[in-house]
Amino acid sequence: MIEISKIEQFDVFAGKQIMIAGPCSAESERQVMECALSLAAQGVRIFRAGVWKPRTRPGCFEGAGTPALKWLEQVKAQTGMAVTTEVANSRHVEAAMKAGVDILWIGARTTTSPFAVQEIADALKGADVPVLVKNPINAELELWMGAFERLSAAGITRLAAIHRGFSSYGERIYRYSPQWQIPVELRRLIPGLPIICDPSHMAGKRDLVAPLSQMALDMKADGLFIEVHTDPDHALSDNRQQITPQQFKQLTDSLMIHKDTTASDMAVLKPYRDKIQNIDRQIASLLAQRLDLAREAGDLKQMLNLAVLQPERYRSLADDMVAEGLKYGLNQEFVRAVFEALHAESINNQLDKYNKTK
Ligand code: PEP
Ligand code: MN
Repeated sequence: MIEISKIEQFDVFAGKQIMIAGPCSAESERQVMECALSLAAQGVRIFRAGVWKPRTRPGCFEGAGTPALKWLEQVKAQTGMAVTTEVANSRHVEAAMKAGVDILWIGARTTTSPFAVQEIADALKGADVPVLVKNPINAELELWMGAFERLSAAGITRLAAIHRGFSSYGERIYRYSPQWQIPVELRRLIPGLPIICDPSHMAGKRDLVAPLSQMALDMKADGLFIEVHTDPDHALSDNRQQITPQQFKQLTDSLMIHKDTTASDMAVLKPYRDKIQNIDRQIASLLAQRLDLAREAGDLKQMLNLAVLQPERYRSLADDMVAEGLKYGLNQEFVRAVFEALHAESINNQLDKYNKTK
């Protein structure tokens, strides 16, 4: 059982959300202070800045390192904001704690490595500091859970998760695609765990930061973690995704914050929900009928000594279903994915039978 206690610094932003903002990297005293002062003036209470930067490829800016901790101390002293930075090993933990960093975060690349997370957890034994854990680079809930278990076993109870999207190969809209169902499942497994969204790393480009922020709130995120830079185009890291303090203001002003669902809201929704449930039941019955027929067809294939997979048949059925879906205005990719799942289950049933009778 992972014990979760409140992170006091999470007092909501403008009476709405937990808001953590600041540059990707602390680059210079001046850059850090300018950004911090403009965010503090907008009511932000937690300032982020990477001091040690884990870069996927060598040769990029790897952070200003330990000297930058002084700039964070100055942010605290001059603005009253709490500060947070990324730690990836025990030396970072010790230096950050010594400099009075209020909240630590573990980056996506680090969450992926149980050795590194354990080293951080060991360095944190007996310390009383909140830790935010970003999701691992790959969409594996177990690794994310493992990090919380290691930190919890070290006595850390002020914990929160940051969903920053997951890596995939090839062309895509987002730099790291969100997979909202994963943090939802994490929240179910660790009740009370705050889930914050980092739309900046998900987006990878400025224009998508605001829509992703709204999407996160629509998915009930508890807060946002946003990269803000006074001169994003010349930022030494992540220059395409950082936004200016002015753009940050527009973003926060435009956010639609949802209210909690009340009993009367539930009453308005009920007839629709009942109908949807009814349709889901009909779908379950149709699925069972489809599988029964597929099993019978499987017996025939076996009698006729035919292979289970008949690729032409598969393609023509898939195309037919997509065409049928288009008539009703259904999204092609969605219909294809549903068909693939249906077909895979039929084939698995037929294969099972083949193997049992061998
Ligand atoms: C960051 O927040 O600047 C960072 C390096 O993030 P991530 O670990 O999500 O890539
Ligand atoms: Mn970054």
